Amino acid sequence: MSSCIFMIWQESWSQQLDNKLHSVKPVIGTWPVIPMQRTDVKLTRLRIGHIRFTHWHLLLGENAPQCPSCKDSYTVKHILVDCPVFNHYCITFFGSSHLTLSDLVGEIPHQNLFAFIRKTGFLYLI
Ligand SMILES: [Zn+2]
Repeated sequence: MSSCIFMIWQESWSQQLDNKLHSVKPVIGTWPVIPMQRTDVKLTRLRIGHIRFTHWHLLLGENAPQCPSCKDSYTVKHILVDCPVFNHYCITFFGSSHLTLSDLVGEIPHQNLFAFIRKTGFLYLI
């Protein structure tokens, strides 16, 4: 996990003093699931393949965004698995460029999933 994201989580968590869970877990450590709701929302969007970046065109009546390198429509699968443009990030963050969607956003999401997404610039487009 990127230490920067971790610090943001910790900062946000520290401000939630009235959160019932806070007394149980004042410092974010190893939760079995990702605790922050915003991250859960992003993870859910990735799992159902419906992220803002790939779907906003529907609202605007425009064409789907296309990968400038592959000329394929951008989908969650294209970004996470298929696109060779991000291969080196896959190797950096996942240790392989031959992964499946379920390896990354399955029941146990890959621990570096959000570090990868942040690095590729899609974090705020989900
Ligand atoms: Zn591509």
